Amino acid sequence: MPELPEVETIIQQLQQKILNKTITGVDILDDSVVQPSVVKASGQEITEVYRRAKMLIFKLKNGYSLLTSLRMTGHFRYNNSKLLHNKENYPFTVGKFYLSDGSILSHHSIRKFGFIKLLNKKELEKEFAKLGVEPLSEEFTLATFSHLLTNKKKSNVKGFLMDQSQIVGIGNIYAQEILYHARIDPRKRIIAISPQKKEKIYHEIKRVLALAIAKKGTTVENYSNLEGSGHFQEELAVYNQVNCPKNHPITKIKLGGRGTSFCRKCQN
Ligand SMILES: [Zn+2]
Repeated sequence: MPELPEVETIIQQLQQKILNKTITGVDILDDSVVQPSVVKASGQEITEVYRRAKMLIFKLKNGYSLLTSLRMTGHFRYNNSKLLHNKENYPFTVGKFYLSDGSILSHHSIRKFGFIKLLNKKELEKEFAKLGVEPLSEEFTLATFSHLLTNKKKSNVKGFLMDQSQIVGIGNIYAQEILYHARIDPRKRIIAISPQKKEKIYHEIKRVLALAIAKKGTTVENYSNLEGSGHFQEELAVYNQVNCPKNHPITKIKLGGRGTSFCRKCQN
């Protein structure tokens, strides 16, 4: 599933391609993913393109927003011209947005768990109401992080990092990578972590996510950004690995129902 770095990469690419263009038409090919009300975006200029947590938002001139959740397999494709678009013949197309300069943004979904919906300001705020802090924002200080930890003393640290009501955007891949670099066992209870280690985790959250954005995300299974695959998979220390970077064997367990890889020697 795309996490913060993957969605941020897509947002940065979309900003280059669709910002300030007007949607001149919408084709809905599967309304279980692209909700019927999305056709009302036709005629509207896209005035903002931004990310919140793992969601993508296109703000429209009339105050409404298109909200997209990619979930497992959703992705966007962009073509400068209709001719090119028709030639490429992408599979699993669920919707198409025709833009004022003749370009086409299409949405694709293999497993159809995600959605695109049109929301007014209030409805959009409601979607965001239960979300935690953005880890790359200025708001996310060491003090904020420490405060969040104090309220979740009994949680294991990996479960905490993935809890979207606390910090948004970190999923199963980046939680494991952050904890490897912070040298913490993912099963460790928050109450048992020293202040120095907490600070290390805080810095690794910022560092790992920023590096993953610079590498345009991690491609495992089927994530692709608008330009193709990401490159962070080449940097992975524990996720999907047999040995850690120091060549110790990786231990694989289930934690909170999710596959979890870590190194018993490096992380304790
Ligand atoms: Zn190791």
